[in-house]
Amino acid sequence: MAIVTLTNVSRHYPARTAGGDDVVAVDNVSLDIEKGDVYGIIGYSGAGKSTLVRLINALEPATSGTITVDGVDITALSERELRRVRGGIGMIFQQFNLFAAKSVRANVAYPLKLAGWSKADIAARVDELLSFVGLADKASAYPEQLSGGQKQRVGIARALATRPAILLADEATSALDPQTTHEVLDLLRRVNQEQGVTIVVITHEMDVIQTLATKVAVMEGGRIIEQGDVFDVFSTPQHPASRRFVGTVIKGVPSPAEAAALAARHIGRLVTFSFRDGDSAQARVFLDLAAAGLDFELVYGGINDIRGRAFGNLTLAIRGDRAAIDRTLTVIGERITVTELEGAR
Ligand code: ADP
Repeated sequence: MAIVTLTNVSRHYPARTAGGDDVVAVDNVSLDIEKGDVYGIIGYSGAGKSTLVRLINALEPATSGTITVDGVDITALSERELRRVRGGIGMIFQQFNLFAAKSVRANVAYPLKLAGWSKADIAARVDELLSFVGLADKASAYPEQLSGGQKQRVGIARALATRPAILLADEATSALDPQTTHEVLDLLRRVNQEQGVTIVVITHEMDVIQTLATKVAVMEGGRIIEQGDVFDVFSTPQHPASRRFVGTVIKGVPSPAEAAALAARHIGRLVTFSFRDGDSAQARVFLDLAAAGLDFELVYGGINDIRGRAFGNLTLAIRGDRAAIDRTLTVIGERITVTELEGAR
């Protein structure tokens, strides 16, 4: 069941210069987020990710299209009704956005106070949340006394206080070191699995998608250019722009500069073969090359793991008769993705 549905949603901003065109930050986006998903939204800076999240969060109105959150069409609501919708959505941020002058306990209690909870209920809920995020002993501390990871755990406890069905995370681990990032990602996974909260993560970090997300949408120029299961999108991206983006974050795909260095160092045609786990085609690549009388050398590669499933890329320098290479690559290309690097001989 979809908990968030966007149908043909666009968001325009006024032109930056008089007489210029509107900025189209989100361009005709349609998207279904299912209950229980951890949905990653990825793409380069300026792609429209944050704007999309502000639309889902009802912080800004869409210019056109409809947005349904938990069965309610939020594009048709009054400000008062929108406040209730926002109450069902928690949010965490890159810079944590904690109240520096409030204790950890008071930070987490804040949304409950706003929602009119009783003192006793607030105290019980805050204790429960702090123990869930592993900060029961920090209740009286102030944000400046906490590490980045601890601050984000307070942010998560505060975001979950009113038991929202949806948690939006905007670059929530981008300010943290790798070790702390993993602690926060583990916590977010527990939020999803133990509390059944649907999570939408905006990120430019592969780690976050790789270890946490179940689905992913790739944005460019305000549009979603590709979406689907994380493993499918990362192992076999279809759109040239998502191939480019995915290529910068996964292991085993040489960058243009690395490809040029490989071409200068090795004789032969440089070809990248992309494998997925369960492919029975892997051994046959080498058999087919050998059977065609071709000589080859392994020059570059890497394996990626996405929540227990592997896919990899292997680049070979292949030498031999040009027509024989073409024929063999065509045959192999019917089973797996074959990419010949540009500029190679
Ligand atoms: P991302 O989160 O992927 O970096 P954003 O959603 O922040 O992308 O921005 C998408 C585009 O919309 C950019 O060109 C940005 O400059 C523009 N934009 C975002 N917010 C505003 C705004 N409030 N006013 C004008 N332009 C904006």
